Amino acid sequence: MRQRNPKQKLLMGPGPSNPDPRVLRALSEPTLGHLDPDFLEVMDDTAELLRYVFNTKNELTLPISGTGMSGMETAMVNSLEPGDKAIICVAGAFGERMADVAGRAGAQVVRVEAPWGEPIDPDDVKKAIRKNPDAKVLGIVHGETSTGVLQPLDEIAATVHEAGMRIIVDTVASLGGVDVPTDRLGLDVVYSGSQKCLSCPPGLAPITFGEKAVAFIENRKTTCQSWYLDLGMIRRYWGSERFYHHTAPINMIYALNEALRIVKEEGLDARFARHKAAQEALIAGLLDLGLEPVVNEPYRLPTLTTVYVPEGVSEAEVRRKLMDEFGIEIAGGLGIFKGKIWRIGLMGTNATKANVVRLLGALREVLK
Ligand SMILES: *Cc1c(COP(=O)(O)O)cnc(C)c1O
Repeated sequence: MRQRNPKQKLLMGPGPSNPDPRVLRALSEPTLGHLDPDFLEVMDDTAELLRYVFNTKNELTLPISGTGMSGMETAMVNSLEPGDKAIICVAGAFGERMADVAGRAGAQVVRVEAPWGEPIDPDDVKKAIRKNPDAKVLGIVHGETSTGVLQPLDEIAATVHEAGMRIIVDTVASLGGVDVPTDRLGLDVVYSGSQKCLSCPPGLAPITFGEKAVAFIENRKTTCQSWYLDLGMIRRYWGSERFYHHTAPINMIYALNEALRIVKEEGLDARFARHKAAQEALIAGLLDLGLEPVVNEPYRLPTLTTVYVPEGVSEAEVRRKLMDEFGIEIAGGLGIFKGKIWRIGLMGTNATKANVVRLLGALREVLK
């Protein structure tokens, strides 16, 4: 057998981020049966804490068994029937995936695009809705991890609702680090992932469905395209019926529960301010090193900063040295940004000035 001995590293890429030590301890608590009354209490408590971080009173709020992509897929297959029209906003790799997943769910996909590094323009959404008044949903990414853009949602959500459509929002890289105003904007479906700003290992995808989104599930004419991700069945296990669907990933739910407690102890506003302050320190340091941010204010995603690789510097070589010599992980670019940018995450527990200073010091050494 080969040795398995992972070293402690500082994970400052687009996720996973380092779980809080308390979360890792919760993961090792005794496994219970999935219908054990003690576990059912942990489930209820976890759903209530998820309502807190999602800023919602939505009854149908729970973690899907799977990573962030399972959240995306759950959102789509429980919001679309084959043939339904879906407007999908694409301004990066995750918007691109949303279009792909909606298409696989049988939707007729209409794209609204923006250049990578910029947010979607609400006027382009208005035009698309005017041309496609029969669309049922609009999908959009809140924190686009491939570009570092934080997408403003207020105007777009209002436009979508005026047209009688539902809005699906990807908050995998923002929930727990940036305000996700589910109820204030009436966001119909919002999903996330455990391993980014919630500081939990990968494996769960928190999701919440509003009233109109639940009505869709209850009134659909075709069965859900996915058996495993069918919320019509999963909700019977998370609700009072406790109907067996699939075995809950018990220990991961302990971990998420602990991660959410930590968020609540800190308080959402304090947490958002900490992420913002950490990014400001990072940007100041990067500018000091002569590096140029990709995204302009006010569209910078606090939890993930993108910066151009200077002329004549090997993008991958710098990342390799940061890892080998300093034990720090950052990421390179995707798609059109491949080889051109670095992506630096400040997510959850990791979003501290101490980590910023550690990274900047290492980067200064490596760039010399
Ligand atoms: C990471 C990420 C995902 C995918 O999550 P996985 O946990 O890798 O499945 C989806 N959307 C966004 C915006 C992300 O940052």
